[in-house]
Amino acid sequence: MNDEVVDANFPTRLARLGTRVLNGGAITRAEAMELFALEASADIFDLLAWANRLREHFKGNKIHLCSIVNAKAGACSENCSFCAQSAFHQTASPRYGFVDPEPVVAAAEEANRHGVTAVGLVAAWKGLNEGPMLDEVCERIRDLAATGKTRPDASLGIIKSQKVADRLKAAGLSCYGHNLETSRRFFPQQCSTHSYEDRVETIGYLKRAGIKICSGGIIGMGETREDRCDLAFALKEVGANVVPINILNPIPGTPFANQTPLPPLEILKTIACFRFILPRQEIMIAGGRTVNLRDMQSMVFTAGASALMVGNYLTTLNQPVAKDLQMLKDLGLDPNWDDHDFADQEALESVASTAA
Ligand code: SF4
Repeated sequence: MNDEVVDANFPTRLARLGTRVLNGGAITRAEAMELFALEASADIFDLLAWANRLREHFKGNKIHLCSIVNAKAGACSENCSFCAQSAFHQTASPRYGFVDPEPVVAAAEEANRHGVTAVGLVAAWKGLNEGPMLDEVCERIRDLAATGKTRPDASLGIIKSQKVADRLKAAGLSCYGHNLETSRRFFPQQCSTHSYEDRVETIGYLKRAGIKICSGGIIGMGETREDRCDLAFALKEVGANVVPINILNPIPGTPFANQTPLPPLEILKTIACFRFILPRQEIMIAGGRTVNLRDMQSMVFTAGASALMVGNYLTTLNQPVAKDLQMLKDLGLDPNWDDHDFADQEALESVASTAA
């Protein structure tokens, strides 16, 4: 006999919320917090079923696959507490300077062999200013675009001027990864060398340049459910197109090395809540899924995820891409997302502007 306390009226309230979102409406923060606060597994599974229905309604059975290439590793000047690449932490993470074209082109070709059509150039540094490094970055973006096989994306830290964002756009950049990471309230507990505001400002420059925004965060750093809820609403407000959810993989040598892992059901519930708040966005499961979800990885899609980061992450290993592709096939999902087409961009922007 299960001794969970189940609210008999919850399925009716949930169906009302789900129907509203299906019909193009939005849920309030208070309504979202009721979902984040669910404890009984029976209620959480009801929530997942609705999140799956929302994913199918807004995204069909297409799953967007994305991969990254680390263009500059380690010795970062910032002190993000989760990150193995910060110079503040003693970790075994590799360090190297900005890469030549060959590894970037090789990563694009490798990704393409697996049907992955978006490759992000990622650099471990505070950000990008005008100067010779920006010229080099633009070169690598052009190299990626010239392969003709992948959508060139990048995640290059904080941007402090419109000119830099415009140069990236002119080089052919399609989408820029820049996570808000967590709520504005929790942010100072995970980083003190730059601010949450720096990140919001960067997204503003990129949007004005016409670059799509990939912005999400990390869960499991010790933040509360309120912080996760606020992150989701903040991402809606800044108009994120793709929302990566990372799950902390505590790295020895970082301040979060001893953080207690989130239970898998809490992770799946969080993904489902994000789908309710961000029904049209690509919700992408990124770092930490293998180690935190183990055999429950495939449930991220029934929890509402519509995109997956495949291949190895920046400092940790992932399961082989072939295994991910088999998982999608077994679920009846199609990885052939046309990622040159952010078809519902206009819908996203109007959602963002009404939310602001
Ligand atoms: S998350 Fe990015 S900015 Fe922060 S320490 Fe790591 S590489 Fe540097």
